Amino acid sequence: MRHIIESLGHLGGRELLRPLIEQHFKDKIALISSFGAESAALLHMVASIDRSVPVIFLDTDKHFVETKLYRQKLVRQLELSDVRVVRPLASDIAREDAQGLLHRSEADRCCHIRKTLPLHGALQGFGAWITGRKRFHGGARSCLPTMEMIDGRLKIDPLAHYARQDIIDYMWMNDLPDHPLTTAGYTSIGCMPCTAKTGSSEDPRAGRWAGHKKTECGIHWSINGKVIRVTSPVGHVPGAGC
Ligand code: SF4
Repeated sequence: MRHIIESLGHLGGRELLRPLIEQHFKDKIALISSFGAESAALLHMVASIDRSVPVIFLDTDKHFVETKLYRQKLVRQLELSDVRVVRPLASDIAREDAQGLLHRSEADRCCHIRKTLPLHGALQGFGAWITGRKRFHGGARSCLPTMEMIDGRLKIDPLAHYARQDIIDYMWMNDLPDHPLTTAGYTSIGCMPCTAKTGSSEDPRAGRWAGHKKTECGIHWSINGKVIRVTSPVGHVPGAGC
């Protein structure tokens, strides 16, 4: 995989996605989407290359109703043909979160059984996966590379170097609808109990697990339950300040 990172790491957006989808990982690549505030841009880029690329949505059973309706709308508009709704194991929920309140006492564990483990199962058979993280989200994402090896798979963040305005412009130019909650003040949208509105001067992800140290959701954790921290950006786009 090293040669792919070295040869394509300077690219981003569709320029990066096309060779990965059509050549290097043909039929072996998936997009993970929360169908949240910025998701439409990346979904559109992937669909414009190949709308049959599998799109994995982790249904934690804690999402806003608005997110599910938005998902349906985007699936129709972009004609995505392989959207996979992945749910946690019923046995895990029954054993560890029968009351549905684990997010209050052990959010990391809740993410582990509702996101990390289901994603691990959903990614079996894929050599690469695409996510929508960006450097402007701040925190551990500030030095995000466009590609990195995680748990033996290539993890791709083609919009790592995009600014918030780039996303807004892309969505406007391609006539993509906003998530209905963005107009209500939500700039990053995940599970309902762990998502709050953000102030205009705050980081876009400040409303996620607001008031807690936790800043990343389960899917950006390794399967062993450890947070993946970016310490050595490989293939980052020059000018990111990392
Ligand atoms: Fe649970 Fe909150 Fe993580 Fe969703 S974001 S899986 S509700 S802790």
